[in-house]
Amino acid sequence: FPFFFVQIISSLFDQIFITRKEMREVLTIEVGQAGIQMGNAIWEQYCAEHGIDRTGQRKEANKNRDTSFKVFFEETESGQFVPRNIAVDLEPSVIDDVKNGPFASIFHPEYLLNGKEDAANNFARGHYSVGKPMLDRVMDKMRKLVERSDNVMGFQMAHSVGGGTGSGLGASILERLTVDYRKIPKLGFEVYPSPNLSTCVVEPYNALLATHSLLENTDVSFVLDNEALYGICQKQLRIQKPDFDNLNRLIAKVISSVTASIRFSGELSVDVADFLTNLVPFPRLHFMTTGMSPIIPKMNVSMIPVDVHKITDDCFKPQNWFVKFTEFDPDEDRYMAISLSYRGNIQPRDSSNAIQWLKDNNKIRLVEWCPTGFKVGLNDVPAATLESDDIAAFDKNAVMIANNTAISRVFTKRIAQKFDLMYSQRAFVHWFVGEGMEEGEFAEAREDLDCLSQEYLDTCSSCYSHFFFFFYKQNIVVVCAVMFVLTKCFDFFFELEIRS
Ligand code: GDP
Repeated sequence: FPFFFVQIISSLFDQIFITRKEMREVLTIEVGQAGIQMGNAIWEQYCAEHGIDRTGQRKEANKNRDTSFKVFFEETESGQFVPRNIAVDLEPSVIDDVKNGPFASIFHPEYLLNGKEDAANNFARGHYSVGKPMLDRVMDKMRKLVERSDNVMGFQMAHSVGGGTGSGLGASILERLTVDYRKIPKLGFEVYPSPNLSTCVVEPYNALLATHSLLENTDVSFVLDNEALYGICQKQLRIQKPDFDNLNRLIAKVISSVTASIRFSGELSVDVADFLTNLVPFPRLHFMTTGMSPIIPKMNVSMIPVDVHKITDDCFKPQNWFVKFTEFDPDEDRYMAISLSYRGNIQPRDSSNAIQWLKDNNKIRLVEWCPTGFKVGLNDVPAATLESDDIAAFDKNAVMIANNTAISRVFTKRIAQKFDLMYSQRAFVHWFVGEGMEEGEFAEAREDLDCLSQEYLDTCSSCYSHFFFFFYKQNIVVVCAVMFVLTKCFDFFFELEIRS
């Protein structure tokens, strides 16, 4: 009896005084072919970094190490780690590939959803006709994932904007998440189309309509531009004809660095809310440019830079960016905010020195109204190298996430111009209207994109007015002196005139 009594007292003590540490989960959702294939590469990268094998078991040696990765993985009663993830497509082939692929057994089959009929590269089919019944299934699964979490930190969606499912159904899911979970931030990893890897004619329509929805329904969007990724693979990694696998492995490397400070506990960690607070000065201007360094092919391992200055500097070079800008001008295209995530053995002092060096040498131009501009994350675990990687292994790297005004040109020059050409003839519009979309939505989305580019311009015009004000204040003495001389000259000539 005394033993039993002591046990009851002890369990009561536990319940009252020892509260379980609350987990903050990130729930991910992959929509459409690009989203799911990109997701496969990302989960493979995460598993390698946390020592999780293809059956979801964690290797013995890692068992007592950092458990922050549970933000992304749920532990089952049998000790298996399952991604907190939903993968959804409107047709079966891509989901079937996952079910029959090497990582099939880590995903919960209930959360791999597919329909029977695809979106036929049509935003309207994904958003209205074919996508509608799927939306309820997805939201039902999402509700279950949320219920199984302690306190969701954020949602992350991976999808493309050029197809039909990722863009149309992706937009519907984001809209519903906004309504159902208003306070939980939403991050998007959005693949923007490239002419080199184009899979359909109406990509500009889909991309424009999806971007219109992203403006309202994501808090941060990471623009992953297939054109830039294709260029990096060809020029830097010397892959003659890159395919989606090559692109996705690069994307996985950068996303793993973006989320590293959430998945590992570190000295200078950045969580989802930190991203928002530091990177988004105005709610609509939330489209990020990402860059990574080093990007060196496997055969050139001797060229991997080890010094923090070099990797920081390289991050800010347009050839290392995952968005391609036509004629990036470092003077005109200003940064509104920057987050730098370092991985590997890097001391805070070294990263601060590197950033100061960038500022001192005018390598970056911040808008006048945001003088600090930098958020730094340090994580001492380097990115894992996979056998299938095209990129050389590195023991330290840097990833830049920047809010730069140049991003508006991706929308205006790359999407809106092509959209205008087709829409001026109303070409292909009947396919969208036939699936339940109103024609007015095209005009509305197009107008909204014009407003967005004007908003980006305004942030810079206000920096020019600040610039003139600053110039005026600095030179007030000179201005007074010039005005004095001019008045004297005027008096002199006026007197001369009167005398003559
Ligand atoms: P959906 O399934 O209807 O959403 O269509 P997709 O996801 O295939 O969207 C087509 C766009 O996504 C095109 O711009 C393709 O170039 C791009 N895309 C398709 N698959 C991949 C992929 O695995 N990786 C990348 N980076 N882009 C892809």
